[in-house]
Amino acid sequence: MASRSMKTPDDFNILCLLKDALSLESSDEPMDESREETNPQYQGLTGLRNLGNTCYMNAVIQCLCSVSPLVEYFLSGKYTTSLDKENGEIATAFAYLMNDMWLGDFDCVSPEVFRLVIGERYPTFLKKAQQDSQEFLIYVLNELHEALKKSSKRRNQGTTSTAWESRPSASESSIITRLFEGHLSYDIMCLECENNTYKKEIFTVLSLPIPYETECSLEECLQCFFQQDMLTWNNQITCSCCGTKRDAVVKASIAKAPKMVIFHLKRFDCQGSYKKKLKTDIYYPLNNLDLSPYIYPLFRKNPKYNLFAVVNHFGDLDGGHYTAFCKHTISQKWYNFDDSQISEMPESALQTSAAYLLFYSNQSFSVPVKNHNG
Ligand SMILES: [Zn+2]
Repeated sequence: MASRSMKTPDDFNILCLLKDALSLESSDEPMDESREETNPQYQGLTGLRNLGNTCYMNAVIQCLCSVSPLVEYFLSGKYTTSLDKENGEIATAFAYLMNDMWLGDFDCVSPEVFRLVIGERYPTFLKKAQQDSQEFLIYVLNELHEALKKSSKRRNQGTTSTAWESRPSASESSIITRLFEGHLSYDIMCLECENNTYKKEIFTVLSLPIPYETECSLEECLQCFFQQDMLTWNNQITCSCCGTKRDAVVKASIAKAPKMVIFHLKRFDCQGSYKKKLKTDIYYPLNNLDLSPYIYPLFRKNPKYNLFAVVNHFGDLDGGHYTAFCKHTISQKWYNFDDSQISEMPESALQTSAAYLLFYSNQSFSVPVKNHNG
């Protein structure tokens, strides 16, 4: 990779260009015609400059850059037809960044512009202090969704229950909801009259408890999340049949499984002022993670998931360092992304006690292409 160069853009000029780009008419043309000749072996293998404690950001960007259908959506220019021009700076900056990372021309690019536009809305991310990569991921997914969502006429959801809670965004779809959004259903039963009610919750990241201190499996974390819980004392529910507060049991299930499921392992244990990081060895399968025990029987269409990216957190609560392991769509090999450094790694090295976010997909990825007509 020594032949490739380091890209050092004039950030503020690019920010101006970005604003100009947003004022242009939508077009299905790829963003830059001169980018036809790229070296496929390097596509998607581009380091990210550390801008001062921005490894939390870089690790997340690398994982998103390995989601082929997401990358293709931006590379092909398809996103411009859905883009909300008033609210599209973050999505446009993301598109430019994905394009740079998939050119194959640079060893390393700077995420400065992306960081600046995110920082305009969330100033926390401009600080030169370490942030939580899970929070950053959720901000990015939310912003991309807000910029790219399309409202559809409300479909009649063919559910027999009238107790489903639905929020308006359920009818808004975007590339983010199509790839990452799942639905949880909470089945709540009053222990007095055994009346059942259901509550729906939308998720893009599932935060899993870690049930053991030294080692456990991802399946044990999932069992812990989906086990039946008692609702007593302050957590009692108001039962509509009994008309008063009652003890109840609640059990969560997946009502709609997303194509990509992201697990957040709750390593940062905060109870009041007591904080610590759990360094539990969590064994996670690389292939065929079976979510069917947690999915409603009716919706178990593609319950087997394969790992394609990991965000790692090394070190302790404050500070520490983030890296990413991502599977490269073209070579099908695993790479370690440590800011500007990229190195190939064996599958046997994927399992570490630093794993913090796990990205699984229930479908195989094809190499993202820029232009469907081409
Ligand atoms: Zn009741």
